[in-house]
Amino acid sequence: MPDDTRRFCGAPVIDYTQPIDTGEVPENGADFDVIVVGGGPGGSAAAAYNAMNGCNVLLIEKDVWPRDKVCGDAVGGKSLSHAKELGVLELVDASPHYVVDSIIFGSTNGSEVKVMLPKEAYAAKGLQSGYALPREQFDWLMFYRSQEIVREHGGTVIQGFSVLEVTHEGEGDSARITGVRCKAGGKRGDGPELSFTSRVTIGAGGYNCPVASAITKGINNEPLRDDEHFCGGYREYWEDVEGLEGGEGPIEIHFIDEVLPGYFWLFPVRDGLVNVGIGMLISEQRKQTGMKKSLKKIQEWVIKEHPRFSKRFANAKMLEGSAKGWQLPFGSPRKKAPSYQPRRNAMAGAMTVGDAASLVDPFSGEGIGNALLSAKMTSKHFDRVAHAEGFPESAAVDYMIELWDSLGKELTNSTKLQRMMKWKRLCNLVIGKASRKPAIGELMSEMIASKETQQVLWNPWFLFKTIVLP
Ligand SMILES: Cc1cc2nc3c(=O)[nH]c(=O)nc-3n(C[C@H](O)[C@H](O)[C@H](O)COP(=O)(O)OP(=O)(O)OC[C@H]3O[C@@H](n4cnc5c(N)ncnc54)[C@H](O)[C@@H]3O)c2cc1C
Repeated sequence: MPDDTRRFCGAPVIDYTQPIDTGEVPENGADFDVIVVGGGPGGSAAAAYNAMNGCNVLLIEKDVWPRDKVCGDAVGGKSLSHAKELGVLELVDASPHYVVDSIIFGSTNGSEVKVMLPKEAYAAKGLQSGYALPREQFDWLMFYRSQEIVREHGGTVIQGFSVLEVTHEGEGDSARITGVRCKAGGKRGDGPELSFTSRVTIGAGGYNCPVASAITKGINNEPLRDDEHFCGGYREYWEDVEGLEGGEGPIEIHFIDEVLPGYFWLFPVRDGLVNVGIGMLISEQRKQTGMKKSLKKIQEWVIKEHPRFSKRFANAKMLEGSAKGWQLPFGSPRKKAPSYQPRRNAMAGAMTVGDAASLVDPFSGEGIGNALLSAKMTSKHFDRVAHAEGFPESAAVDYMIELWDSLGKELTNSTKLQRMMKWKRLCNLVIGKASRKPAIGELMSEMIASKETQQVLWNPWFLFKTIVLP
């Protein structure tokens, strides 16, 4: 750990505002078992899991830590179990964060339901139900721990290098990704250009990842993006929002008229600081007119004028420089996928994880958990001995099949829920009923923890009881 420590609640904590020293840059032409492009949560975890498997790993990140990432900052149970496995959870525990114990869902007519998270189910695994903390901090801790693990296992980590090109040999069915060409300081930087080779290159560069781009449109002539499955997101940090004080409590998701078919969120990230944002499908946003064409303008209106929310912001102050937008690539199943679901995520010589693999939950907007899950899965499918001659197409197909087998059901259910919430009257009915019938709130709580319970939502009898019966 760095010597430069601060104290939080009496305990020493590492200073996530400081640079991370990652050591020497390898020589041009160096060869690795695994190259990971992107050092967000997905890339940091993929590099660490593959290094722990005995691979010689190169992790390449274009930014230099500390760096911001636009997000709602909620880190759910799925993420926390991986964070624990990688030794990141203890670092999070020792730094400022908010403990999420429940979610408040609000409907357009003002009714609200507070769904308690299943604390006991998580406690049995030694975890909290959820945390929220700024991504600048969470990603710093992930990257910090990852570079420790990678370097302990003989690998290399570089920051400030942008991957410009993903190299490949062969064409069509016999094409194979062979490595990357990158440059210090990004495309327009004047730093050196270096090329590296590998048995497998893992794309973890987010929604515009160069490896994902090569696998889809570059080599296989399939689309990288589809606005029906991409969401725009806008975030600001606010201090002193009424009703969200303290270090433990709910996060809030509100479906309000002026924001539908998107939603407005209020996620506290530590005592006194709240992540406030809006998300909307890009295809829906394109249909909007007037104020609704800009997420920033809708948010400004909600904060200043909405009868329920403006009061809560009366004494609040926005952190300067915190207003930023970004995109979320959803894992919703494509109607006519040209190959695999949600889209092609691997080929000979390469796999993608997290946002590069389009795995964000289409209802909750959560993507960190699936980024970590897919990152771990790459280490199961790449074997440095069996794949000494290169990661074959058959292993790539196995990876894509296992990825959809393990996530397809929940991503499909979340897509249905997302579409349902678009219908104002249905949304009001479900939230209104849940606020009056504790049994529905309890069921929603179980749904958050259990894939089996999620199935109940699509059961006609459940829908009849929820929506029709008093
Ligand atoms: C507004 C918004 C709200 C969200 N809210 C939540 C939430 O509350 N909870 C949640 O779980 N998820 C949330 N998400 C989704 C979540 O942010 C992503 O799913 C998550 O960051 C995915 O992690 P990743 O590692 O795959 O990609 P990223 O976090 O995007 O990391 C990609 C990394 O790759 C680097 N990179 C990119 N290109 C290159 C290149 N050419 N060369 C080298 N490096 C490169 C980038 O600098 C970056 O560090 C939200 C997203 C948005 C936009």
